[in-house]
Amino acid sequence: MEGNIGLTPVSSLGEFGLIDRITEGFSARNPGIIKGPGDDCAVLDKDESFYTLLSTDIMAEGVHFDLSYAPLKHIGYKAVSSNVSDISAMNGRSTGILVSIGFSNRFSLEAIDELFSGIRAACDFYNITLLGGDTSSSRQGLFISVTVVGEVEKDKVVYRSGAQEHDLICVSGNLGGALAGLKVLQREKDLFLNNPGIQPDLTGFEFVVERQLKPEARTDIIASLSEVAVLPTAMIDISDGLSSDILHICKQSKRGAVLYQNKLPVDYETDKVAESFQSTGSTYALNGGEDYELLFTVSIHDFEKLKGLKDISVIGHMTGTNSPVYIEASDGTQMEVIAQGWSHF
Ligand SMILES: [Mg+2]
Repeated sequence: MEGNIGLTPVSSLGEFGLIDRITEGFSARNPGIIKGPGDDCAVLDKDESFYTLLSTDIMAEGVHFDLSYAPLKHIGYKAVSSNVSDISAMNGRSTGILVSIGFSNRFSLEAIDELFSGIRAACDFYNITLLGGDTSSSRQGLFISVTVVGEVEKDKVVYRSGAQEHDLICVSGNLGGALAGLKVLQREKDLFLNNPGIQPDLTGFEFVVERQLKPEARTDIIASLSEVAVLPTAMIDISDGLSSDILHICKQSKRGAVLYQNKLPVDYETDKVAESFQSTGSTYALNGGEDYELLFTVSIHDFEKLKGLKDISVIGHMTGTNSPVYIEASDGTQMEVIAQGWSHF
């Protein structure tokens, strides 16, 4: 762009480079700050037994959602789910949210009601309270920013940085579904734009479409791990894709990892969609984002306790100090995992 001669495009840094840059030079000015930027939540001292957890997420129209196929109610629900998921990733429990929105005059009162009906449904589902927020007009489009607050017992908090060599790498649910749903929705939208007479047909893709439009935070996994007394050594929620998120755990834990391609949990529908786009289910699992499943590591001694739990797969193990991260195919060939994901700018 002409006006930007001599200036650096933000995209040259990538999301994580940008975060490192803008958070540099800030220091904790209060003894109650246990953890600042760099994990799924900030961690603040609360009382003798608990930490307070805080996280925030922004969703922008045209970047995170497309109103031509995402109902406003689902967008509201998803904005809450993605935040609650970050509290789960610290092994915590969400208690409340602040919601801020910016919207142009294209949005009617009924539209805003619809958005908040989704936010209300999520508050009911996760049993959390709307604490406040802000509203603003915007020149263009809809923005939603949700800040979530939660708590965790001090001896139960789980960071990204605690994984040890030989720990098992586990994931909840199945992966790649949200990307598959996005691909199907985009395909139907393109068909419709080229031929407005055709009605979108999502038959046979209900599961992946729901994974994209109405993801749920895995608060149930936190509860079941606690029931069998398994405390993960490290944890993150899968928002950017398995490859990016395992790299976060490995970088912060200063360990490597091996993931087994044939152990990645992929739903049949996800596989089918991936193949129709000349890809594979495991590629979608590695590179697709927004699944909001939990990726965590546990000590090998906890393996027996995990066995009885539903919806958890062991997909690999941690390796030595500062080793690379590999994905191993069934024929034994290994490929180094490099981050994909984010390219919003
Ligand atoms: Mg997260």
